[in-house]
Amino acid sequence: MNWRKIIKYFFILLILGTAILTFLANRNMTQIYGGLTEVVDPGTFNIPDKAFSINSISVLSPDGDAFIPNQNVYIENGIIISIDSVPIKSKEIAVINGEGKFLIPGLIDSHVHLFKSPNDLLLYVANGVTEIREMIGEEDHLKWRQEIKDGRIGPDMYIASPRLGSFGLVEGWFMKWTQGFNNIKDAKEAEQMVKHYAQKGYDAVKIYSYLNKEAYEAINEAAISEGLDVVGHVPFSLELTDVFKSNQSEFAHLEELMNAFRREFGKFDNQKGANDFLAYAENRSKEIIPELKANDISVTTTLWLTQSFVRQKFELQKVLQEVELVYENPGISEWDEMIPQGLGWLPEVNRYKLPDDLSPEEKAWQKIFWTTYGEACKIILKNLSAGNVNIMAGTDTNLPPTVPGFSLHDEFIAMNNAGMSNYQVLQSATSIPAEWLGSNTGKIMEGRKANLVLLEESPLVNIANTRKINSVFLNGKILDRTILDKILKALKTANNSSRTKEINDFMN
Ligand SMILES: [Zn+2]
Repeated sequence: MNWRKIIKYFFILLILGTAILTFLANRNMTQIYGGLTEVVDPGTFNIPDKAFSINSISVLSPDGDAFIPNQNVYIENGIIISIDSVPIKSKEIAVINGEGKFLIPGLIDSHVHLFKSPNDLLLYVANGVTEIREMIGEEDHLKWRQEIKDGRIGPDMYIASPRLGSFGLVEGWFMKWTQGFNNIKDAKEAEQMVKHYAQKGYDAVKIYSYLNKEAYEAINEAAISEGLDVVGHVPFSLELTDVFKSNQSEFAHLEELMNAFRREFGKFDNQKGANDFLAYAENRSKEIIPELKANDISVTTTLWLTQSFVRQKFELQKVLQEVELVYENPGISEWDEMIPQGLGWLPEVNRYKLPDDLSPEEKAWQKIFWTTYGEACKIILKNLSAGNVNIMAGTDTNLPPTVPGFSLHDEFIAMNNAGMSNYQVLQSATSIPAEWLGSNTGKIMEGRKANLVLLEESPLVNIANTRKINSVFLNGKILDRTILDKILKALKTANNSSRTKEINDFMN
């Protein structure tokens, strides 16, 4: 063999090897975001659309502060046609006996991530979540939204764009490949990207922490002319006052405010400092209320997740036992140890785990810090809610340990514990986000879309009663308890057959 041939074969092998490695790496990337998990075919739950009436039911009033007893709610083509104390008499209409039960609007989770996990769409519905705000959109999500409009079982969807950040060239490429970030360095790129998102059909531009000021301001400008919302994080490059003056209409976590307060307050490294910071957060959260309201900025909670950080660091097994881990997409929960900054749930890959080599003193400090972290978010929520800021319940699903659908009910308890009344909690997951979204849901009124949840007991008496779901009504379809259980069983089976790691240690 001559040298030319050797060189030729070497290059052929090199190209082939690179292609195989790229294929495997991309396949792995799909797997860890849940895309190789067996998909449950929503078509197997063949539920016809039909006219029906829910009779003798207690209906949540449009104001949301009381149940009106003994009502008959007539629904046709997925719309509430009438609500009356006298039932409609017709043999054609299916009648659901609502005696002793409670009808509330379908629930809205204002902060979710579907990633590559279409089974989640069923999981939301099975938990009474009939509308979601997807906060890191992908092309697949736009496709799923269309399929849902065409009759697929799933929640109504609001879809924010992929995340935007300002990175260097190599880092930007890596962040794009591993986390789907789009790298925006200046005003021109920002403008082009916003236009691109609007053309694709996204509803909003998602702001992320690592965005420079020039890009942020250009995004805000462009979003106005393209008719897109600006939502998400408070970039580290900006002061809170700059963000208040912007076009951004939502903060995706209470943490955004808490971290902005931390930047203002400066570093603290002992219990005394932590206490001083909590006092600071108490005052500052009251101070900013007029600005949030004047600029019409809503705050999404994700409180339960934030409060779980310290617990995941110190008692992960217990936390995993408490949640419905069996329903979490195993691709995501198992993740891959080789890929840093992951979403992993299980102990070897858990996103929030402490480094193994911490000294006892460092460990003690970590406990103080993360307890303070959750506590500060709780204080902020208490004050914003008391000051009538628009609060939207959101969970950040698929980040450990927030199982899609189930986690919204956990969020309600956390919000309740932070001082919000049952009434306020319910509003934050129904009428408030519906109004923010401009959707025809969120209240039980004639002419509104009949996305509804039938509960066994009143959530105004105990907010935990939102878990006691008898039926879900979705786009004119009746999903009774039997169907909901069938859906859950199918999801469990699909997950178990796709699982490569045992989770017996984490079952309750
Ligand atoms: Zn998120």
